[in-house]
Amino acid sequence: METISDLEKQLGGMREFYLKGKTKEASWRIAQLKGLRNFLREKEEDIFEALKKDLRKHPVEAYRDELGILIKSLNLALNDLKKWMSSKTAKLPIIALLSSAEIIPEPLGLVLIISSWNFPLGLSLDPLIGAIAAGNAVVLKPSELAPACAALLAANIPNYLDSKAVKVIQGGPAVGEQLLQQKWDKIFFTGSTRVGRIIMLAATKHLTPVTLELGGKCPLVLDSLSWSLDKEVAVNRILFAKFGCCAGQACIAIDYLLAEKQFSSTLVNLLKAMVKKMFGENPKESCSISRIVNKDNFLRLKKLLDDPLVKASIVHGGQMDEDNLFIEPTILLDPPLESELMTEEIFGPLLPIITLEKIEDSIDFINSRPKPLALYAFTKNKTLQRRMITETSSGSVIFNDAIIQFAVDTLPFGGIGESGIGKYHGKFSFDTFSHYKSVARRSFLTDFWFRFPPWNNSKLLLLDSAYNYDYFGVVLVILGLKRSRKGFNIN
Ligand code: NAD
Repeated sequence: METISDLEKQLGGMREFYLKGKTKEASWRIAQLKGLRNFLREKEEDIFEALKKDLRKHPVEAYRDELGILIKSLNLALNDLKKWMSSKTAKLPIIALLSSAEIIPEPLGLVLIISSWNFPLGLSLDPLIGAIAAGNAVVLKPSELAPACAALLAANIPNYLDSKAVKVIQGGPAVGEQLLQQKWDKIFFTGSTRVGRIIMLAATKHLTPVTLELGGKCPLVLDSLSWSLDKEVAVNRILFAKFGCCAGQACIAIDYLLAEKQFSSTLVNLLKAMVKKMFGENPKESCSISRIVNKDNFLRLKKLLDDPLVKASIVHGGQMDEDNLFIEPTILLDPPLESELMTEEIFGPLLPIITLEKIEDSIDFINSRPKPLALYAFTKNKTLQRRMITETSSGSVIFNDAIIQFAVDTLPFGGIGESGIGKYHGKFSFDTFSHYKSVARRSFLTDFWFRFPPWNNSKLLLLDSAYNYDYFGVVLVILGLKRSRKGFNIN
């Protein structure tokens, strides 16, 4: 990392470039978005290689969760950019007679994106697409824990994007802290709730707006009564959303499953059978499951299972290979609720099942914990669905599937409470990096005399009618054909 004065000089240069207005031009934004798409297309092999090095992600999984989603985001932004950038006419109240008004999106300025390692390209570039589309200058700090992807971005972004306005800075927490000391017009952060608090604190210095895409424990409620016909489909979807998506190292992975007690052994047997179908008899040999990102995270997950009461609850899996950073898809039945496994975000291939007497009890269970980023419920019971929506609070609620919301760019993606602040994806990303400026133009042709002092009761009556009626109503009040409110006792 450069010295603080080098960094300040570079950021000063970027801000100067931003102020010249180039990044606000539609043609500039389009050229950057096309450049990014060219990078993804031309360097596909290198991208797969980097994701394999960092996480042993299979290229198909990498395409499904990162590359494909990014290309889709870019296509959408390129297609809709002019529409997003256009100003919208605003309706005006009668009090602003003979005026026009519009709402114009303007970029925020120089923005900082700090991202996480589990989807090292997706979580860096998807916000970048929104920031560029909105016309900002951007510094991106990818995670140091996916070093191959961070290096790939740092080496290629300058060749495909305008380096006067888009810069990648590599490094870990120390570099992050240096960056946080600078003045930004927006900070977009993806990572843990712990670091999210540090970001928010740093942002107070300049009253910088923040988007915090954080984590937490996402529950899945499995209603046994209503899935009898679709067991295999449901279990497939559960396993995909726990083990088949970066080995559970995803913010919206299912963290734990809530199911009725009477149904638990059927469920466990089905899960076991389908794990074998998905990852084979020896999952360690499977190339379809990612590895744990590094030793620290491997040891963190191992420690969760080292608790003797947790270990005793394992009903499937539990094998680990530290040298290969491999953890077998592991299922646990009723581990202690006060264990770290059930109080901390798991972020790995361990799936605890917590049994309840009746599925409706899941609502209290969820409400007694921090608001999750996502709540999943497999149920066809419409009453339960309605109760899940109205009686719980979470970033999103998905019925009968999981994780798919990430790829739906018409839905805002973001958390609530401890799972985050703000939202992005699709047009919401553009909004996140824009300020919607109100512009009004008044004519000199006419004025409502009653908005100016000196005050009297007839002015009050006219003001009241202007706030309550349309033009016609006001004329009727003026003509004395419509009653207005009572006057004040004015001395
Ligand atoms: P992290 O908070 O440790 O790190 C995230 C980023 O912050 C990294 O780039 C890191 O270098 C940087 N950083 C760390 N300490 C910093 C500091 N003191 N000052 C400035 N920057 C600092 O998180 P992580 O380990 O990368 O990711 C795991 C967490 O992220 C999980 O909780 C997960 O749920 C969450 N996550 C959320 C989303 C989402 O979209 N909501 C996506 C992925 C991950």
